[in-house]
Amino acid sequence: MKLLFLFLLLALFSGCKPQEGPICAEVDGDSMLPELHGWAIFETCPKCQFHGLRCSSGTSVCPNCGWLTPENERSELPHEIIPPDLLHIERQEKYFHDDLVVVVPSPEIGPVVKRVVGVPGDRLEIRDGALFRNGERVVYSLVDWVKMRILVFNDDFRPEGRSRWKVSGTGENQTPQPRDGWVLENPAETLTYEHETARFTSTGSRFVPGPITNQRAENGTQFPASAVRFPKEFMVEFEVEFEPEANDACICVTFPTFRLTWRGNQGADLSASKASFIFSSLDGLPRIWLDEKPVPESEISAEEGDFGTIQIRNLTEQKVTIRRLVLWRGEVWEDFFTNYRNFPKNEEKIVAFDCGLEYYVIGNNLFVSDDSRIWGSISPQQILGRAVLVKHE
Ligand SMILES: [Zn+2]
Repeated sequence: MKLLFLFLLLALFSGCKPQEGPICAEVDGDSMLPELHGWAIFETCPKCQFHGLRCSSGTSVCPNCGWLTPENERSELPHEIIPPDLLHIERQEKYFHDDLVVVVPSPEIGPVVKRVVGVPGDRLEIRDGALFRNGERVVYSLVDWVKMRILVFNDDFRPEGRSRWKVSGTGENQTPQPRDGWVLENPAETLTYEHETARFTSTGSRFVPGPITNQRAENGTQFPASAVRFPKEFMVEFEVEFEPEANDACICVTFPTFRLTWRGNQGADLSASKASFIFSSLDGLPRIWLDEKPVPESEISAEEGDFGTIQIRNLTEQKVTIRRLVLWRGEVWEDFFTNYRNFPKNEEKIVAFDCGLEYYVIGNNLFVSDDSRIWGSISPQQILGRAVLVKHE
């Protein structure tokens, strides 16, 4: 479940078309984006020219600038249709957390693809905007987050040459903003992210400073205004190039809730080497990946706090260059997991749900997905099988 249920931005549910022979289905909806592409579309924003994944129908939302393109104004020509991914459906005796399943909630609905959030005996709760299962917070691996993450800003995409990252501190003012990488020469220099928003302001200015919200997402769907929240958990990805002769490395990333520091091996030969980092505070956990491998917790120094900012610093006196900088965010569960709609099987709006002898399934896009929050729990007989994704290449 990792993926889905948190994020899905999509507007629709994913439908399946059973075929003859081995049970196989096409993903023809958007609700499982970005995990399952289905008929999702790549589209270019008419305002900022950002080219990215969008849902295949309805209003299109630019993940970069928030520009809304109504369905009847969406161009047919530039779309690249992705061949739908195929799902193999395998009937199981039991299903497990995070399984992707094909369910038929009623004779009128389905089959649809959803994610198993709860299995028989589970109790689900939302506390302070986080999902708990049987009293423990549901935590995803970074492998899963890499599939589910939602774009905030890609520093390599700057049609007007402007970045939302700024260097402050001593040293030279790095303007115009470098396209060949951010140079941090010493600990006094700080690379700080300043968010901008466009569509959802009425100031006439195209881009204005504003907080990061959950309103729009990488697959181009948007949440209703009533569902706007302010994510505090982020992931930042970048590449660091060390100077020739470098023998010391210490990179510090500050998120709103954590300050994470990674110190390279003392005396290691870093000569003109490159390292790719992911720093993450998603799920409220301080985690770092280096060259696609998790850095052991013992090698991460994490300070919890209310920092209210997103910054990158180089804590050595040896110059580093930062490139391919991308900022992502997590999802905000808030109360929408439970009170977005009524629960037919439970009558009342709840903040907790007992699965009983059944399963609880949910779509990735909490705000638009029809799932157990509407249908109630799903019996094993309503599950056609576990869906195994077969990617088209
Ligand atoms: Zn745009």
